[in-house]
Formats: sequence, structure tokens, C-alpha cells
Amino acid sequence: MTNKTVGILGGGQLGRMLAASASLSNIDVVILDVGENGPAKQVLSPRSSSLAHIDGSFADPGKIRELAQRVDVLTVEIEHVNADVLEEVQKIRSVQVHPAPSTIRIIQDKFLQKEHLLSKGCSVSEFVRVDSTVESIQDAAEKLGLPLMLKSRTLAYDGRGNFVVRDLSEARAAIDFLGDRPLYAEKWVPFAEEIAVMVVRNTSGEVRSYPAVQTVHKESIMHLVFAPVRSRDPAVPSRAQAIAEAAIATFEGAGIFGVEMFLMQDGTIYINEIAPRPHNSGHYTIEACETSQYENHLRAILSLPLGSTALKVPSAAMLNLIGLSSDMSDLSSVIDAAHLIPGATVHLYGKSECRKGRKMGHITVVADSDAQLSERLRPLLQALSSPQD
Ligand code: ATP
Ligand code: MG
Ligand code: MG
Repeated sequence: MTNKTVGILGGGQLGRMLAASASLSNIDVVILDVGENGPAKQVLSPRSSSLAHIDGSFADPGKIRELAQRVDVLTVEIEHVNADVLEEVQKIRSVQVHPAPSTIRIIQDKFLQKEHLLSKGCSVSEFVRVDSTVESIQDAAEKLGLPLMLKSRTLAYDGRGNFVVRDLSEARAAIDFLGDRPLYAEKWVPFAEEIAVMVVRNTSGEVRSYPAVQTVHKESIMHLVFAPVRSRDPAVPSRAQAIAEAAIATFEGAGIFGVEMFLMQDGTIYINEIAPRPHNSGHYTIEACETSQYENHLRAILSLPLGSTALKVPSAAMLNLIGLSSDMSDLSSVIDAAHLIPGATVHLYGKSECRKGRKMGHITVVADSDAQLSERLRPLLQALSSPQD
């Protein structure tokens, strides 16, 4: 048991599911985010009446200091936070910060993250530094070939910081699209599949990984997750877990991490990127694993024993509910369909506004076999492709 209070920077769906998990163990949570009633702040804490959340930005130094004064352990549900202030509060106040601010600082800059992984011998595909000039992108194209993936180093999510440069005539448009953020370029990776592994690391540095899953993206946004990954090569899942564990072992601090990877046709695995927090590819663990990614994150940062990461069902999938328009009712047919499917659980995130491309919820489906899983998923995918029926 613990009587520590946890502060979370960020109050979206990941904070919501973390707070929901905390409430099962009487763990109080204080959320820092803009808005009074975002997804995470809607979850009642055991002592909710005496514990007000904080309205403000998770990048605001004053607000982070205020949060640090009110809690025992600080954690994040988003990596785009102010790592300098986290370092300062860890030094001058008796608050623990997990994962370590140094880890967040490296990961939040994708170029530094890739350099870190390369320096530790982790498998990453080629990338180069670029300036925001057409000439610099031309140089990058000479080294990496075309197409290349131009990426914003910071503040990226759901592919919104990426631009595929297929021809050098697009270089100017790519720079304009990505705005004045610092950039870098990655070699185009013609992957066979995208896979991911959640890894939890405790305060003594022990790491444990969840099964490798397949992630399917649509327009750069995660659409579906299949657990476990189905692979023709039986060595792929354990190799993916070993690569993910080795990568997370190179970082400091405790918590759950999402490791996104590219699986090539010849079996080579490259790390795409790491998230220092719960991850969309780990939502399935709530219904499908012995211990969810959220519970294991809390156990890790509170120095409690880590829970088993094993699957407790033979087959599972997670389908994201992504806004089709400003009208949430466009998603009602898939939600209604899920209520009729055994093994399906609907999660809605309580967002006040629906927008096209915004993650509004997800559905997890568990099954006794891959065949049963396909059968259970079919009506959901049908409802998504014809929402007006
Ligand atoms: P997330 O929402 O996962 O944080 P992000 O905005 O950080 O996404 P990335 O993960 O870098 O973006 O890229 C989004 C998707 O774009 C990847 O999942 C993959 O499908 C594709 N992609 C990214 N990098 C490359 C690459 N170098 N070559 C080919 N495809 C890529
Ligand atoms: Mg990302
Ligand atoms: Mg990604």
C-alpha cells in the first residue's frame, strides 16, 4: 500500500486512464492542465473534495512548482513538458520525478533521442541533422535518398510534425508546413509492419516488457493494435521485446515507456521512437494483460513491486475511435455495435469537443483465438466504414 499523492503533468486520455487506475488503489492524483474539466480531471480521487486540480499549462514553470508542492511524486502523460523546471523541483523540493527529467529532455527532442539510441548501440535507421533551408534538405536527400521523412524535432504527435519529401521541388513546402520548429531528416523506411512494445522500469532499474503488438496506422494516426503480434518468423516477438528492453535500460528514472518499431521484410527491427509514458499501443493491456500499463506505471513510480506483464487472453485488439467530424454522434454506430459484441469494452475519453482526427475513445476486444477476434472485430470495422447506417 502507499499513501503518496501523485501529480500528473497533462490531463488528457492517458492521464484519465492513469487516474482511473490510481483510484482503484486509493492513490490520490492531482492533475495539471488547462481547462477545468478535461478528461483526467473528471476522474474522482479518493480524497477529491480536499484535492483540487490545477488549471494551467504543463509547460508553465509556476504551475509545475505549485504542483510539486502538493504531491510526493510527479509524473507525465505527455513528453512536451518543461524538463528544466522538473529538474529544479526535484533538486530543491522533496518530490520525486519519474521518469527522470534528463530522460524526458532527451526523448522530447526526436533528434537527441535518435542520437542517444545510436550512441547506446540501439537499432535505428539513418537520420541526419538539417536546417530549415532548401539547400540543407538537398544535402540530406543526397545522403539519405528520396523519398525522405522530414520531421519536427519537438512537439510532434499523430504524425503532425512529419512531411514526406518525395521530390526536392517539395522542400520549400515541407519547411513551410512544419513551421519554424527545429527539424531533422530520416531515411525513408519501407517497413513490412509496425510493431510496438511497452516496457516498465522500476526505481532500481529493473525492466519488464509486455508482449510485442502490431500497430496499424491510418494517415499517420494509430488505428488498430493487435496483441500479440502475428509473425511468420517465431523469433520476431522475443527479439522485439529484447530490443525494447535494452533501449529503455539506457534511460534514467522509473515508469512505463512505449517503444514504436519498424519490422522489415528481412526481419530487421528498427526503433522508430520512444514515448516516456503510457502509450496508445498499450491501451489493450487494461483488459488483456495481468497488469495494465497504467497500474504498472503507478507501481513503478511508487516503488511498489511490478506486476505481471503477461497476456491473460489468447488474442486481443484495440480500435481507436477517431473523430470523423465535429459531431461525436458520427461514432455512435461503432459504439452501439461494440455493445453487442462479447469481449468488447468501450472507453470514451470525456473530451468536450469532437474534431476530425482527434482521439475520442477506443474499443478493446478480447477473444479466445485469432479467428474469434476477427469475427468480433468485423462488425466494428464495418460500422466505422459506413457510420451513417
Ligand atoms: P505519435 O502519435 O506516435 O507520437 P509522431 O507524430 O511522433 O506519432 P512518428 O511516429 O514519427 O510521428 O511517425 C508517424 C508514422 O509515420 C509512423 O508510425 C510511420 O507509420 C510513419 N513513419 C515515421 N517515420 C517514418 C520513416 N522514416 N519512414 C517511413 N515511415 C515513417
Ligand atoms: Mg511521437
Ligand atoms: Mg509515433
